[in-house]
Amino acid sequence: MKELVKKIKILISDVDGVLTDGGLYYNDEGKVFKKFNVQDGLGIKLAQMAGLDLVIITGLKSEAVKARIKQLGITEYYEGFLKKDHLIRKISKEKNIKLEEMAYLGDDWVDGPPMKLVGLPMAVKNSQPEIKKIAKWISQKKGGDGALREAINFILSTQGKLEQLWEKWLNQKF
Ligand SMILES: [Mg+2]
Repeated sequence: MKELVKKIKILISDVDGVLTDGGLYYNDEGKVFKKFNVQDGLGIKLAQMAGLDLVIITGLKSEAVKARIKQLGITEYYEGFLKKDHLIRKISKEKNIKLEEMAYLGDDWVDGPPMKLVGLPMAVKNSQPEIKKIAKWISQKKGGDGALREAINFILSTQGKLEQLWEKWLNQKF
């Protein structure tokens, strides 16, 4: 497991049920609201600092998600992709990064094919049972409750980068 995690260069994450709790709040005008976790936000920054690439892929299209992604400074955001495995193969070729060097964090059946493809399939605690079965790592936190941060911390700490990052952070060496 440790050797496998050390190879990871990209973490790909789903949005609904991973970055959010899966809840869709509708107002009277039919507008959808979603809740994100601020600790995931800082985790994304930490990943960027440590050189762990982050790619976000969602099957849905949402202005709320787009706004949050922009705020976090994520440039690799793909929306409206239900066949995520095809997209991941494409990203792998374009970036010249092997599938085994990729991690994928998901929660539901649409995440199954991409999880089967990558080196490190990861699932949030409240994933569907089939998804948990194919995951090599499962978070303690639920989706939307800091599960992405936990996944990032796990990868960075296994790669021996988290402690350095913390020291730098404490000493404001950025
Ligand atoms: Mg999902």
